[in-house]
Amino acid sequence: MPTFKVLITVKTYPVPSKTYDELVCTAGVTEEGDFIRLYPINFRDLPYSKQYQKYQWIQFDAEKHASDPRKESFRPNENTLITIGKPIPTNKGNWSERSKIVLAKKSASLEELYEKQKLDNTSLGIFRPREVFDLEIKPDNPEWKPSALAELKQQRIWENRSKSLEPPRKMPWKFIYHFSCDDARCKNNHKMQIIDWEIGALYWNLIDKGTLPDEAAQLVKQKFFEEIFATTRNSYFFVGTVSHYPTWIIIGTFWPLKLTMEPTLFNLDW
Ligand SMILES: [Zn+2]
Repeated sequence: MPTFKVLITVKTYPVPSKTYDELVCTAGVTEEGDFIRLYPINFRDLPYSKQYQKYQWIQFDAEKHASDPRKESFRPNENTLITIGKPIPTNKGNWSERSKIVLAKKSASLEELYEKQKLDNTSLGIFRPREVFDLEIKPDNPEWKPSALAELKQQRIWENRSKSLEPPRKMPWKFIYHFSCDDARCKNNHKMQIIDWEIGALYWNLIDKGTLPDEAAQLVKQKFFEEIFATTRNSYFFVGTVSHYPTWIIIGTFWPLKLTMEPTLFNLDW
């Protein structure tokens, strides 16, 4: 079984799925910048020393999923999993150390990722949208489907630190980015849902403090639209396909501050 060293970059809020063992997408990049998806991982069963955080390096043995054709899908052996050091800090907002790894193999656009998908079953990536027009808030079913609830209870993959025996609460909203890519093939009208774990974490944190649902949804938008895609930042989308469906979805954001000196000034050929 090969050994991997991976910087964890993405964890998604659970999505009901027929393939019960991939309700939560955990993904990261290797030292070379190659993406990898890990499942299943039973966070609750990991000892505290192995409960990794985002932007922390971990090492483990893993094998390719036999029944999952997506090139980045691996099954980790949890007994071999160790964490390495502390999470990489943001370096005063410019995320320089994170960027070296995470952006090493960035894509130019969603269209480029669609192309790679046809070529070799690529199913994870990162790219910078040309423009983000909106983050649409759409009401969603406030209850899990019974089948999804059963899967969640069976899998116990929902909690990182808590001893709670309850599965995560169902988000009563969908958050959908409207954006365009920097690509001639782009039709300027992508509408794509984001299922980042942090959306749910922020929302329920607000609700638990007494914020009303409508207001909490607006505050989520304030963070994930106005702050993350502020003009002072060079922000990216992590995207991937979920649960064997070929459809892409946004699974996280990467939002370093723009450098005060634009690097293009020094990259001119002449
Ligand atoms: Zn596009």
